[in-house]
Amino acid sequence: MEILITQQQIQSRVAELARQIEADYTGRPLSLIGVMTGSLMLLADLARSIQIPSRVGVIQAGSYRGATTVSGTLLINDSFLPDVAGRDVIILDDILDTGHTLSSLRDLISKLGPNSITTGVLLRKIGRQIIPIEPDYTGFEIPNRFVIGYGLDYNDDYRHLPHIGVLHES
Ligand code: 5GP
Ligand code: MG
Repeated sequence: MEILITQQQIQSRVAELARQIEADYTGRPLSLIGVMTGSLMLLADLARSIQIPSRVGVIQAGSYRGATTVSGTLLINDSFLPDVAGRDVIILDDILDTGHTLSSLRDLISKLGPNSITTGVLLRKIGRQIIPIEPDYTGFEIPNRFVIGYGLDYNDDYRHLPHIGVLHES
């Protein structure tokens, strides 16, 4: 495995995003909504770094079990989503690829009466967006490689890694 982004790089970038979010959301009812399972680490690290009051919640989205990339139908489970009515919501995902996931979730959450919605991703793949969606907070732009670690999986393995890596074919 090749390390693309180190643990140290992730930690300092997450801290920068936290300072940006504090500046943007001070005095507002902030709700961080992480897209499970990939955003688990980002959600946990950001929530602890942001030094203003916030609420933390999750929504689940993904492709069919076993699939490596999202193609076709997106499965969304909102049964654990807290009440977002009147809240200033930031939807957090691990990676922006085609844009289907974030735009579908933004459409769904916007129907639940939030005061505002923005989006944040740890990673954004360059040149892959099919649905035009511009994340308000982006950690790193990366080339079009399949990445794992810091929440991102390959068939449910590798989420625990503290860095972002690229898997080799074998
Ligand atoms: P989109 O809906 O933007 O095409 O895809 C976003 C979702 O696809 C992410 O939440 C993630 O689950 C998955 N995904 C896209 N690219 C990668 C990748 O390189 N590695 C991993 N592990 N998942 C990816
Ligand atoms: Mg995902």
